[in-house]
Amino acid sequence: ESTSAPNFIRNQIREEVDAGTVDKVVTRFPPEPNGFLHIGHAKSICLNFGIAEQFGGDCHLRFDDTNPAKEEQVYIDAIKADVEWLGFEWAGPVRFASDYFDQLYAWAQHLVREDKAYVDDLSPDEIRDYRGTLTEPGRPSPYRDRSADENLDLLERMRKGEFAEGEKVLRAKIDMASPNINLRDPILYRIRHASHHQTGDKWKIYPSYDFTHGQSDAIEGVTHSICTLEFEDHRPLYDWFLANLPVPGTPRQIEFARLNLDYTVTSKRKLKLLVDQGFVDGWDDPRMPTISGMRRRGYTPGSIRKFCEMIGVTRAEGGVVDIAMLYHAIRADLEDNAPRAMCVLKPLKVVLTNVPAGHDEVFEVAGHPARDDMGTRRLPLTREIWIDADDFMEAPPKKFFRLAPGKEVRLRNAYVIRCDEVIKDAAGEVSELRCSVDFDTLGQNPEGRKVKGVIHWVSAEQAVPVEVRLYDNLFQVEAPDRDRDVDFLEHLNRDSLSVVEGYAEPSLAEVAPESRYQFERIGYFCADRHAAAEGKRVFNRIVGLKDSWAR
Ligand code: ATP
Ligand code: MG
Ligand code: MG
Repeated sequence: ESTSAPNFIRNQIREEVDAGTVDKVVTRFPPEPNGFLHIGHAKSICLNFGIAEQFGGDCHLRFDDTNPAKEEQVYIDAIKADVEWLGFEWAGPVRFASDYFDQLYAWAQHLVREDKAYVDDLSPDEIRDYRGTLTEPGRPSPYRDRSADENLDLLERMRKGEFAEGEKVLRAKIDMASPNINLRDPILYRIRHASHHQTGDKWKIYPSYDFTHGQSDAIEGVTHSICTLEFEDHRPLYDWFLANLPVPGTPRQIEFARLNLDYTVTSKRKLKLLVDQGFVDGWDDPRMPTISGMRRRGYTPGSIRKFCEMIGVTRAEGGVVDIAMLYHAIRADLEDNAPRAMCVLKPLKVVLTNVPAGHDEVFEVAGHPARDDMGTRRLPLTREIWIDADDFMEAPPKKFFRLAPGKEVRLRNAYVIRCDEVIKDAAGEVSELRCSVDFDTLGQNPEGRKVKGVIHWVSAEQAVPVEVRLYDNLFQVEAPDRDRDVDFLEHLNRDSLSVVEGYAEPSLAEVAPESRYQFERIGYFCADRHAAAEGKRVFNRIVGLKDSWAR
């Protein structure tokens, strides 16, 4: 079956644990609360929490909340819920980088006193310009040689809010000629007159990601700070802060390749656009690759964890995972764990002419073919039933083994029926079939004939109406955001949702939110958690039955 792929970080940590160079492994998952988590974050969550679980260590949940302008409490709440739903437990309290703002400020003052940081009055554009390029060294700012006293005073006044946004920044004094642009006097603090979701109006300056991350890791005793490859060039800076500040630990940054999934975008910024512009019904729309969207669609936590195990962890950039692999992971889970049910999505009325009105035969059938623990369900057979219109053809091609005039088919879990008459409406459309039941065919073949086809059906009198939402990929092309010249929104699939009214077997009259079923012959479906909470019977198609993932 689906196996796990190599994970170089896990292997590396196993060696360290075996060699005794690390006592207790501490990792962290550090989301910025500026959007909902997506499937790419799930990879990072599974990696960080998985490693802590595996080596008896701890994984912290730390909000990387240094940019108040884009962050919100709703995102914090959603992120916590997603991590818990995936089945992980963070060690200790929920942490915030903003918990360390006082300490970070003290460390900024420390750097100033050591002549390793200065207040710069250049504008953001000038700073960019002075910084140089890959082929051209940077130039020192004219403010680079301010005295420590002057810098301390200016920094303090920045903190108190005496300057406007963009007027001044605090920069590290490292090396304007470094081949690594990240070391050309990176910014430590920016002025932001914004209210912060954790610290309110206390701060008028906010630390940069670079000045925050490694020190927060050190404060928390993180041993392995695992991040995606775009931070590789920041590692020398991460290490520079640890080497130049009296921090209480020596975390190590390890980078891995981010997850890219075809037919999908995995960027919070782009997903936020889809939400803000109304292309989807919120962050947890079942078409979204967000964890909450996948949850609402019907994915199980186990299937997402399994998928993350299957894709592995490497440093190879540019790989794109086939979305069929994700579908495979959920299918494999539900094949074993979802009870079966019958549901007709495109109802066509069938009158069973030799079944009397008031007939009350009930078939008791298995909830799951291989799971006795799932018990049985009751399928009533009545004179009128619904079948799927696609299971009938008036003039069928040769290999059509379903219903056609004069032909026989088996009703799943019940009898063989024969189509005797086709009734049409005024427009000439087939509106009803008249069929007769062969009562000698329960659990056995009819005398002298082979009936190949089996179709699903429900009692028209006792079926329950259901709304079924059928989802397709949100994007029409494999790589919606590959081409920089084309807006990814142009690749949106405008037909990614279709809603049909169907009929389900009566055992689905009452279903708990998020209960999952295999609708036999159709696919896997999940009771929409929001609709179910309002007492509505709405099913989301999670995935079809056919597996196209090429192993
Ligand atoms: P986005 O680009 O979607 O905004 P981000 O990296 O800015 O993502 P963060 O909230 O900073 O989002 O991410 C938290 C953690 O999740 C980081 O350690 C980040 O590296 C990791 N992560 C984000 N996207 C992916 C991805 N596609 N694959 C693997 N890990 C990811
Ligand atoms: Mg980030
Ligand atoms: Mg981001």
